[in-house]
Amino acid sequence: MGSAPRAVIDLAALRHNLGQVRAAAPNSRILAVVKANAYGHGLLRIANTLERAADALAVARVGEGIALRQAGISCSIVVLEGGADQQELNLAVTHRLELVVHNLEQVKQLQRYKTHTPLACWLKVDTGMHRLGLPVASASAAYQALSACCAVAGKPRLITHFANADDPADPATLTQWKLFQSMTSLLGAEASAANSGAILGWPETCADWVRPGIMLYGVSPFLNGRAETDGLSPVMSLQSQLIAVNHYKKGDAIGYGGSWICPQDMAVGVVSIGYGDGYPRHAPPGTPVLLNGQRVSLVGRVSMDMITLDLRGCPEARVGDPAILWGVGLPVEEIARAASTIPYQLLCGVTARVDFVEEQVSDGQAESR
Ligand SMILES: *Cc1c(COP(=O)(O)O)cnc(C)c1O
Repeated sequence: MGSAPRAVIDLAALRHNLGQVRAAAPNSRILAVVKANAYGHGLLRIANTLERAADALAVARVGEGIALRQAGISCSIVVLEGGADQQELNLAVTHRLELVVHNLEQVKQLQRYKTHTPLACWLKVDTGMHRLGLPVASASAAYQALSACCAVAGKPRLITHFANADDPADPATLTQWKLFQSMTSLLGAEASAANSGAILGWPETCADWVRPGIMLYGVSPFLNGRAETDGLSPVMSLQSQLIAVNHYKKGDAIGYGGSWICPQDMAVGVVSIGYGDGYPRHAPPGTPVLLNGQRVSLVGRVSMDMITLDLRGCPEARVGDPAILWGVGLPVEEIARAASTIPYQLLCGVTARVDFVEEQVSDGQAESR
């Protein structure tokens, strides 16, 4: 296996998680979100697995949609940020991409646009997220304009996005939902609102289409959540191995800046993984790492290619021993909390230097299929 870090991608876990979406939203179609390289898992391998199992795929940008088409993906693809200009409209037509229309400029562009192949569109309504979307007050006029527009195929669907669905106690989600529902029933349009947090936390918001992202990858969408509690299995396990076991004296300083001082004579292990691979540089001492299936603590600073571990609890540790940085047996949710970030950022941030391999993983042991 060599000492290079690997991201082991478990496609059976992905299929299991999609099944959990179906179970939670049995009456909705699934728009599976594969933006940002499928949350760092590899756009094409994830899209190939989901293409037939989900009802459509969503990306953020036109370029991501084109990459899917060029790889032969033929299902519906929705571009969540829509098109920015005439050239992107041309590309959307050529590659049969569906566009989210979220501002009046885009509505006007479509009204001016001449095409023999009208585009399927989703009109985004801002119900409180205040990022993209038309205010509720002007959404119905925009809806009528798009419905009458020659460049738009049929009636647009309506879409909104929740700002607080990661917190099951936050009433803002239901406030947004009620506002959205009043629009969609007035216009009689097909609707999509729920991201992962809403699918699991507010089943009543599932509507015609759900848009799961993070839960597909086996990660809890909730603050302080755990995938296991939500019935999800992690798709990515980031692994590497021990490349040195060294013995230091009490008072010796470890790594850059010498910020961590050995409190006693002790063994310190070095694992080949660092921020150059996407391991968070701000992970503090005490962040857990699974070494030979046993939890040990990070010590010292994370460097570009390496981290150092406190081996006081494992005298039997040897060079070549496997280490899991996150994944099966060590939830990425926990590493994200330790490093003051969110699992989304850690997953998206795994760099191209890491080898991606597809394997089924169970109980922390990788078995090739
Ligand atoms: C990213 C995204 C999603 C998926 O969100 P998760 O929290 O990962 O489930 C859904 N809808 C929109 C508009 C998004 O940008």
